[in-house]
Amino acid sequence: MASCIFCEIVANRQPASFVYRDELCAAFMDIQPVTRGHLLVIPNRHAAFLVELDPRVGGHLFAVAQRLAQALRESEVRCEGINLFLADGTVAGQEVFHVHLHVIPRHRGDGFGLRFPPDYGRRPPRHELDAVAESIRAAL
Ligand code: AMP
Ligand code: ZN
Repeated sequence: MASCIFCEIVANRQPASFVYRDELCAAFMDIQPVTRGHLLVIPNRHAAFLVELDPRVGGHLFAVAQRLAQALRESEVRCEGINLFLADGTVAGQEVFHVHLHVIPRHRGDGFGLRFPPDYGRRPPRHELDAVAESIRAAL
């Protein structure tokens, strides 16, 4: 997968500032950090989307992100909170098509945030939630 920048990083053909590596995953500094200390955790084996990712590897990415979150809190990086973020698909904001979990240290006034749709705040009636739950359950 020569055209994938994250595969190139795993293969040591492109530079990265690694903080962690093992047989399943790697974690390194985001080249364009949202905040200082912003990390990415990626599987070593290419998977463009979540559907292609072995769930055991997915679980491992999360476990490593938990460790990194703790390390960030104990480091000199300003870290009063953490966001874990994963964009799966273009519409979700994915720009690099090799699965990656963002670990973003947060501090008061850092300027980062989520934007919600205009009708956010409305609480759908229970029967509506139940109907959506049923359709998702049916797909499991
Ligand atoms: P996403 O929008 O979730 O696909 O995020 C892609 C992330 O990868 C962005 O935060 C980029 O700054 C980051 N990124 C892209 N290329 C590199 C690279 N060569 N090294 C480190 N981070 C990168
Ligand atoms: Zn890749």
